[in-house]
Amino acid sequence: MKFAIRSKGDQASNALADTMQRYLFDYKFINDEEEPDIVISVGGDGTLLHAFHRYYDRLDKTAFVGVHTGHLGFYADWLPSEVEKLVNAIVKTPFQVVEYPLLEVIIRYSDGTRETQHLAMNEATVKSLDGTLVIDVEIRGEYFETFRGDGLCISTPSGSTAYNKALGGAIIHPSIEAIQVAEMASINNRVFRTVGSPLVLPKHHTCVLRPIKDKRLQITIDHLTFVKEHVKSIQCRVANQKVRFVRFRPFPFWKRVRDSFVADQ
Ligand code: NAP
Repeated sequence: MKFAIRSKGDQASNALADTMQRYLFDYKFINDEEEPDIVISVGGDGTLLHAFHRYYDRLDKTAFVGVHTGHLGFYADWLPSEVEKLVNAIVKTPFQVVEYPLLEVIIRYSDGTRETQHLAMNEATVKSLDGTLVIDVEIRGEYFETFRGDGLCISTPSGSTAYNKALGGAIIHPSIEAIQVAEMASINNRVFRTVGSPLVLPKHHTCVLRPIKDKRLQITIDHLTFVKEHVKSIQCRVANQKVRFVRFRPFPFWKRVRDSFVADQ
């Protein structure tokens, strides 16, 4: 079995990563940074996002597991005190995998630049660099609305607890193959109107955003930020690919939601 460990880079995460590496070497596991079967992320959800983007061209061959050295995470849900148990599980149990849906984003350009394709594990956001974002929203090939405001956030179910939640979006169970479109401060008055509620789209519905006047857009894909010019359209839909997480014990999603946002520590 080939593994890679990605650390957040702080002292505690590096020390834990070293310990796990030593354990895995004891069991004759092979460290392979290029083609790992399993990627262990040590840090937080942000660390796992980075790990996902490092290996996103081999999602069907690599499974992820996350240890958190700070607060409980949605992707990083193993405690530092549990790493011995985790390594034992990795080396002794044929691991089970749970799959979470991803967001596919295709950006097309009006100046002949080749389209670019991206995968997000949390979300994509679109903002204008030149004041209010004005963008047509098309759903399933039909004009839906013209959005005016700070921006739009299109999230995956597992990303619904991140930026989307801060925008008043719903938390969606990752077994539901869907994407969610949430508004950032839309302008709503007698002249301009948007639906005002987050929209949850099923797998077979595509959302296309067509900028009306914006010259320069700021587009984020998870933690990555791009400035794009001459954007003709941004197509968003549930991706065909999924991200795979190694599961050695049940940790129900709603329990993670409760422990993260509701329960006293
Ligand atoms: P960051 O700004 O350093 O951290 C953002 C926070 O979001 C961290 O506390 C991170 O947890 C947490 N997080 C990441 N994925 C999550 C998930 N699926 N559910 C719940 N919390 C999650 O940025 P980063 O670490 O590079 O992460 C990028 C993410 O930041 C973006 O994908 C976006 O979702 C999020 N973000 C949120 C807001 C907001 O809430 N207003 C604004 C911008 C970006 P850890 O501490 O465990 O790493």
